[in-house]
Amino acid sequence: MEANTGVFICDCGRSMNNIDFSRVREKVAKIPHVTCVNLSSNLCLEEGKEQMTSCIRDKNIDRVVVAACSPEFKEHVFQQALENAGLNGHLLSVANIREQCAWAHEGDVTEKALELIRMAVNRTRLLQPVEEKELSVNKGVLVVGGGFSALNSAIQLSQLGLPTTLLERESTLGGRIRELENMYGFKTGPMIEAAEGAKNIDILTSAEVLEVEGKIGNFMVRIRKGAEEISRSFGAIVFATGYETEVTDQDFQLKPGVNIISQERLAQMLQASSPKGRPQTVGFIFDFYDENSRFPTLATLSNALAIKQKWGSEVYVLCRDVKVDSEGADQLYREAREHGVVFSKFEEKPRISADDGRVKVEAKDVFLGEDMTLICDLVVAEERILPPAGTKDLSFLLSIRTDSQGFYQDENVHLYPVASERKGIFFIGGCRGDLDFQRALADVSSVVMNVYGLLSSGKVVVEAEKVKVDPQKCVACLTCIRVCPHSAIQLARTEGEKEVAEISDLACDACGVCAAICPAKAIKFEGYSDEQILAQIEALGAP
Ligand SMILES: Cc1cc2nc3c(=O)[nH]c(=O)nc-3n(C[C@H](O)[C@H](O)[C@H](O)COP(=O)(O)OP(=O)(O)OC[C@H]3O[C@@H](n4cnc5c(N)ncnc54)[C@H](O)[C@@H]3O)c2cc1C
Ligand code: SF4
Ligand code: SF4
Repeated sequence: MEANTGVFICDCGRSMNNIDFSRVREKVAKIPHVTCVNLSSNLCLEEGKEQMTSCIRDKNIDRVVVAACSPEFKEHVFQQALENAGLNGHLLSVANIREQCAWAHEGDVTEKALELIRMAVNRTRLLQPVEEKELSVNKGVLVVGGGFSALNSAIQLSQLGLPTTLLERESTLGGRIRELENMYGFKTGPMIEAAEGAKNIDILTSAEVLEVEGKIGNFMVRIRKGAEEISRSFGAIVFATGYETEVTDQDFQLKPGVNIISQERLAQMLQASSPKGRPQTVGFIFDFYDENSRFPTLATLSNALAIKQKWGSEVYVLCRDVKVDSEGADQLYREAREHGVVFSKFEEKPRISADDGRVKVEAKDVFLGEDMTLICDLVVAEERILPPAGTKDLSFLLSIRTDSQGFYQDENVHLYPVASERKGIFFIGGCRGDLDFQRALADVSSVVMNVYGLLSSGKVVVEAEKVKVDPQKCVACLTCIRVCPHSAIQLARTEGEKEVAEISDLACDACGVCAAICPAKAIKFEGYSDEQILAQIEALGAP
């Protein structure tokens, strides 16, 4: 049966003046299989969508081409218009005449717009519907970690009615904030009590994850708790395993020790300090190792201020830059300066040596243009921020990439930072890098929203067999299993006992990598089949 194609063209509020739309309309109407052409200025708005829906219904259209902006932005809106008219949303092809045509060139681009529409029409003929199906998911969530991010997520998820297991490898909860709470006014106690008191939070301390199998909605996790091994199933897993810090001696002639210390050690000293033995001069060094020195900046500003207030020492901060992009950091910086903390800017790492029981710091001040020598009783050294021990093993067992510094890599740093490449597995807080409390809280909100949306109803709707293996053609070479970035393919036996690759509709992200690489051409990606792509190419240059 011949396709009955409707073409809906949008000039996007007349923002494509280099296309002659009346000529486009006239020529598109003559393309074979096109039965109606509509021109609009606001196709993605409610009014435009309604017109599109009624036109599809009235004219019995069974294939749709939208010539408008990039499908990245509005394809889902147009698919909805098709669904409203009773047509499968996948019988749509979008010709991007805005970003890939009108906005990309100067001068008249009418011919190129026509070409893109012709290609889309020819491809649309071959599109097949993709049905949706509903699958059950386990509502349970595993939160790995027991620090600030993990506690907040577990409490919020449990308040939303999702049974949550909190798994911490240490014997107590609290993570890094336990050591810092008095210093920064945080109280871990109420947070831990809220988690311990929640009916649907199961807390496992001194526990670790040994194995994760399965897919989003039903992960099977093997856990070791003390000498015992247990297996449980969860719909989603949230990793909030934080980071570690390390003062290294490689850049110092002196080893970290009595008077070269970490921020954490300083915080403890400040809490325990008696008026006796206060250091007279304290130097802070930071922002030489790492571009993202968020936590060292916050810790330096808070601690420098606290030293002024508690010890009244002379305080010098030696750094490349003070980056005040964290909430409250600008205010802290001002306060520190008002209290007499001296900030000096350097490009080169300062040289540190021993000086009669004290520490000599030498560097060239950028603004003075002169060498500066500082004799300190105490130097707070810069710390490296590292992924926690075991991150490499965990990323290997989860098949999830880490970034160049060894932290878990975001799926999409701008749009979806807490997601991983495996659907249903999330990373939040310190284990994504140098995050302060406010950013960790933003991660918590994001993951709670995502997990709730995913699991709260106990069901998810997925596209059925959008990417599908033809068992007749598959030779079980395993290539697709190795390359799938979402771990969505496994080997399964057919009824004839042949082993073939099988794609999980739940875990597949429809990226198309497997279909492109399969040497036996056994994988069909609906919407991007070879025939559909060739049909687009054939339409190039057609009259
Ligand atoms: C000295 C210092 C000063 C700071 N000052 C500030 C500040 O002034 N302002 C600010 O906003 N931020 C500050 N920060 C940053 C702040 O501490 C972090 O943003 C916050 O602690 C991150 O919380 P988290 O839960 O993600 O990680 P963490 O608090 O590190 O918790 C991670 C937890 O996961 C557990 N864990 C790790 N691996 C595993 C595993 N494989 N299995 C099970 N459990 C595991 C750990 O034992 C730990 O309990 C500072 C940090 C430090 C170290
Ligand atoms: S790459 Fe193709 S042939 Fe090889 S296992 Fe996957 S589907 Fe089968
Ligand atoms: S399209 Fe293929 S490679 Fe991509 S997520 Fe789905 S199964 Fe994996």
